[in-house]
Amino acid sequence: MLIKNNDLWFSEYYMEDDVKLSLKIDEILYAERSPFQKIEIFKNKTFGVFMVLDGYIQVTEKDEFVYHDMISHPAMAVNPDIKNVLIIGAGDGGTAREISRYKTIEKIDMVEIDEAVVRACQKYMPITSSVFTNEPRLNLMFDDGLKFVKEAPSGAYDLILVDSTDPAGPGEGLFTIDFYKDCYRVLSEKGILINQHEGAFFDGDIEEMKKAHAKIKKTFPIAKVFGFNTPTYASGYWYFGFASKSFDPIADFKPEQWEKLGLETKYYNTDLHRGAFALPNYVLDILASVNV
Ligand code: SAM
Repeated sequence: MLIKNNDLWFSEYYMEDDVKLSLKIDEILYAERSPFQKIEIFKNKTFGVFMVLDGYIQVTEKDEFVYHDMISHPAMAVNPDIKNVLIIGAGDGGTAREISRYKTIEKIDMVEIDEAVVRACQKYMPITSSVFTNEPRLNLMFDDGLKFVKEAPSGAYDLILVDSTDPAGPGEGLFTIDFYKDCYRVLSEKGILINQHEGAFFDGDIEEMKKAHAKIKKTFPIAKVFGFNTPTYASGYWYFGFASKSFDPIADFKPEQWEKLGLETKYYNTDLHRGAFALPNYVLDILASVNV
């Protein structure tokens, strides 16, 4: 945090402190060091309430809809028969909120390592966290996602959503090949894995994107990447991976079926689905450079 002209600022730093994104802090709502990470919740006039973990913005009231639409809806528009979902991380609740809009889903297991994140979001960010008290299909557990997946029975889930922190601190294990292999085993024959795939603009993020892509390509027969615009993540554009045992996100896309559901979404739509998987050349080059 930095005081400038009597204003207090939060800054997230990239490229060895050569670049930063700053949001003015109008109010400090919460600050705690949990056994897993430093949790801070601030308020900014433009972005509303926002949560920072270990110095990195996780979620803001203003742009959370982008991330939560894109982690949830593309997979559901490819396989509308998904019944059992596992969410890993996602302590703010936004992913569970979006996924619970599908009445055909029977079970939503969620494994978050840090109970303090959930409790803080319940207090300060009801826009995402109200799902924790009003969704009977949701089974929230406090555990390490890596350990949970290792111990889970084979074929138990049709969809796994990895809504984790970056590959440092408690999220590190969720970017390993052992974790992706366990996800493969735990998924049903038509299973889909959506994972944090990092950014393609700043050097450190590119390296993490390559590493994640190499491991997932080694594990799944179908491993694609799709992007979305999120102003408060590094460079304003971020990626998820779409990995599957049998479904291709474009060839098996079912736009008419998804549209029939009549879900109102602020970011996702069926035209955008196709566009999100159409990557710029510099991102294609990064992915092509990955050796498997
Ligand atoms: N949308 C966010 C982003 O990418 O910036 C992620 C938000 S969500 C709050 C990330 C959550 O993952 C955190 O609450 C963190 O505690 C949780 N997490 C990190 N490592 C984990 C692990 N190994 N198992 C389960 N949850 C984990």
